[in-house]
Amino acid sequence: MISLSERSQNVTPSSTLAITAKINGMIADGVDVVKFGAGEPDFDTPDYIKAAAITALEDGFTKYTPVPGTPELREAIVEKYKRDNGLSYSTSEVIVSCGAKHTLYNIMQAICDPGDELIFAAPYWVSYPQQIKLAGAVPRVIETTAKQNFCMQSADVAAAINSNTKAILINSPSNPTGTTYDVENLKQIAEIAVKNQVYLISDEIYEALLYDGATHQSPASFNEETKAITFVVNGVSKAYSMTGWRIGYTAGPEDVISAMSRIQSHSTSNPTSIAQKAAVAALNEPQDAVEEMRKAFEERRDVICERFDDIDGVSYVKPQGAFYIFPDFSAHYGRTLDGQKIEGSMDITDYLLGSAGVGVVPGDGFGADKNLRLSFATSLPEINRGLDRIKEALK
Ligand SMILES: *Cc1c(COP(=O)(O)O)cnc(C)c1O
Repeated sequence: MISLSERSQNVTPSSTLAITAKINGMIADGVDVVKFGAGEPDFDTPDYIKAAAITALEDGFTKYTPVPGTPELREAIVEKYKRDNGLSYSTSEVIVSCGAKHTLYNIMQAICDPGDELIFAAPYWVSYPQQIKLAGAVPRVIETTAKQNFCMQSADVAAAINSNTKAILINSPSNPTGTTYDVENLKQIAEIAVKNQVYLISDEIYEALLYDGATHQSPASFNEETKAITFVVNGVSKAYSMTGWRIGYTAGPEDVISAMSRIQSHSTSNPTSIAQKAAVAALNEPQDAVEEMRKAFEERRDVICERFDDIDGVSYVKPQGAFYIFPDFSAHYGRTLDGQKIEGSMDITDYLLGSAGVGVVPGDGFGADKNLRLSFATSLPEINRGLDRIKEALK
């Protein structure tokens, strides 16, 4: 038997995509499932964005573009950083890739050598450890608690830094926890990164989805020293409900940006031409649609929190952003439900799906087996129907 590469044997598939596929399979078989699995907004892409793509098609804008993205889109991104983040970049410090996931992948490929360590918090987004391993580097996970708002504390980061550290990775607002970093803590972490001259990778894909009047501050905006080592990663997927269009981008140190462009030139080349035109419209046109979606998510967050308040043995941290809640169900571990012994997040996910018709994502894949991730990117009636079922199933 011809063997697979070690690299491919060491990578595990995305658990979130796997559970979504299972849930969708059941629905296709006619089972009534309330879905909380989705890692994407449930809204349609706004019409003005679609219109820009249609125009691009009609104009024959269907050929290769420059590898790091069209000058027009990179200019729109430069403007976005200025407008939203108070950051000033030139287009040569910006690269567009096929989704922010691809952006992050390219960063890892461009900065990591075997043995390099990247520091990030658990619970974490499922792709971080896998992308780091695919680049030959080592995930250095810092466990966090609900009490810490699931955020790394600067003292823990300082303790984890060593001569192998290449970067610190921050995701605020966070997938899967919905929590955000307190600016003081973030400033201290940035200071540690500057002092030790390691990169700061700031995944800000949920920047536009913040609640309770909170505002986002990118660590790159703290000072010039921090900006010089920071990648400000963003994309159109979550803010504009454009997950399928595959446009992500980053600004960062110019030498790494050009290394990423070299790598990208031999893998995907440019991101899709017509999707780039749509992204220009998304970034340049008035942002009312974003605010409308944000408001809807905030209302849903309030409802799902209220409903969890009414369920015994489940605690949660109130999400401050994104569209996920990450409750702790571990008080129910050890129970036997429907003849099934519940010993971890996989078991309770199976139980809720099989016996209650509720699709959630186990915390295991995010490095937090006590928890389940529920996406509230779904309608209020569905949220209520699903929470009725969870309450009943845990009695
Ligand atoms: C969704 C997501 C991304 C990337 O999304 P793309 O669709 O690839 O742009 C990156 N980071 C986190 C934490 C996410 O949840």
